[in-house]
Amino acid sequence: MKDTIERVVVVGGGSAGWLVAALLAAESGLRVTLVESPGVAPIGVGEGTWPTMRDTLHRIGVSESAFFRECDAAFKQGSRFDRWTTGLDGDYYFHPFVAPQGYGDANFGKRWMERYGDAPFADVVSSQPSLCLEGRAPKQAQTPEFAGVVNYGYHLDAGKFGVFLQRHATEKLGVEHLLAHVEEIVVRQDGPYAGDIAALRTTEHGLVEGDLFIDCTGMRSLLLGQHYGVPLVSQKDVLFNDCALAVQVHYPAADTPISSQTTSTAQRAGWIWDIGLPTRRGIGHVYSSAHTTDEEALQDLRAYIAATGGGTPLAEPRKIAFDPGYRERFWHRNCVAIGLSSGFIEPLEASALALVELSAGFLVDDLPATRAQMDIVADRFNETFLYRWERVIDFLKLHYVLSKREDTPYWNDHKQPATIPQRLRDLLALWRSREPSHRDFPRLEELFPAASYQYVLYGMGFRSEFPARPADHPELADRHIQEAGRMTARMLSGLPANRALLDHIRERGLPPANPQ
Ligand SMILES: Cc1cc2nc3c(=O)[nH]c(=O)nc-3n(C[C@H](O)[C@H](O)[C@H](O)COP(=O)(O)OP(=O)(O)OC[C@H]3O[C@@H](n4cnc5c(N)ncnc54)[C@H](O)[C@@H]3O)c2cc1C
Repeated sequence: MKDTIERVVVVGGGSAGWLVAALLAAESGLRVTLVESPGVAPIGVGEGTWPTMRDTLHRIGVSESAFFRECDAAFKQGSRFDRWTTGLDGDYYFHPFVAPQGYGDANFGKRWMERYGDAPFADVVSSQPSLCLEGRAPKQAQTPEFAGVVNYGYHLDAGKFGVFLQRHATEKLGVEHLLAHVEEIVVRQDGPYAGDIAALRTTEHGLVEGDLFIDCTGMRSLLLGQHYGVPLVSQKDVLFNDCALAVQVHYPAADTPISSQTTSTAQRAGWIWDIGLPTRRGIGHVYSSAHTTDEEALQDLRAYIAATGGGTPLAEPRKIAFDPGYRERFWHRNCVAIGLSSGFIEPLEASALALVELSAGFLVDDLPATRAQMDIVADRFNETFLYRWERVIDFLKLHYVLSKREDTPYWNDHKQPATIPQRLRDLLALWRSREPSHRDFPRLEELFPAASYQYVLYGMGFRSEFPARPADHPELADRHIQEAGRMTARMLSGLPANRALLDHIRERGLPPANPQ
């Protein structure tokens, strides 16, 4: 039996499958086949990405201008949270993508509280909240593809994104695409790796053989969950949301400004996302079925749409139910689950596609050359991604724990100590007397670094009681904070409106990317 890894089979043609297949084909040199059922549609949501997506798209060699045109994409500079802290009018804060000015030189939490605490932390240490409030783009027409004046990710049409990736992966990167429904998993019967997947039996193309199988079959988790029986570790007792109603809404006028951020507005028993694309808004209500009914959730969604400019829905809202959790492990034998097949937690902070990118990147960078090496890499992958899932859960839960809302059982239940992960409780206890710091998040590629925690903690009114020790480098903090203010003024005068730049990109494109 040969031991080398030569052929990778990706099962699933949603955003996860195509991103993984494209990155593998672009960088691994292996033969990549993507099998996609003609009868099972991709989930069709997932419109908010992180800045990591710029690097991923650049790595697979697409043109950013073509991506904007073909995926109806817009810029995303972070998230705005409305009504999360008190639930009252005027209650909002930003979690921008840009790190605080001078982040890395010193920790400015204490200085901000002592001297600038009347103004929101995010506004004092970064320009991005002001850019978002003004609907500005993060770059200019002359900025090359994938470069930014400030950090940005994208809002995109998930359906169009899949088609765009498919075309690039098959036409430019040589990915073999089979429209075929997998009906049976065929395993090796003997040898040292008996029990490994040998092939997939498909309705349309017979047997598809491979050395490594990537399960991107969405919530079905056909290979890892169904075939191998790797269980889902439920998080329903920590993060209660398990349903979403998604809808697309026309703009009232063709020149309606396009938001620069995802807006997340807290509701009675969940929250509503609002994402602006060039041609429409994508809006969805994420809620807990234990705390509200579908009818009430729909009423709240309709009320939100009416209160935020109306606009005709393109279709009736679509309900998506999910079981919040992640798989006990993600890589088992010669099968790796990436995307929804590996787990899904509500889309607050939109980390699902970022996890797909990190998983695909890990796979490509650490691809085992032989089956004998595979179990070593699998153990590392499992340890790394378990850590990442747990950190995502901590960070999402933080938003609920810090809320002062007491208007419904949903908000009260979220603050019950038994629902809060121990690690988050420990961090909150430490932060009673110091700022979040790099020491709290020591890994490479932390999904949510100390800066993200500072934005949310301070944005939601958390204040530490510092012992009598001086602030970290107070003069340096002042200089950086003043520089952030000057940069805000410069950027507001130099950066175009989102819609103006997106129109320009559609007509003329951006200058080509700088070589990586
Ligand atoms: C309500 C909601 C909102 C979200 N918002 C965001 C967001 O803002 N940002 C973000 O990053 N993520 C978001 N996500 C997550 C995001 O949608 C997914 O991570 C992303 O779309 C990837 O999905 P996928 O490719 O894993 O699965 P899917 O899109 O479900 O694709 C599954 C694929 O598997 C194939 N398949 C299934 N069975 C078989 C079979 N037997 N044989 C062959 N093929 C098969 C199907 O044909 C399909 O192509 C959201 C998710 C939900 C539910």
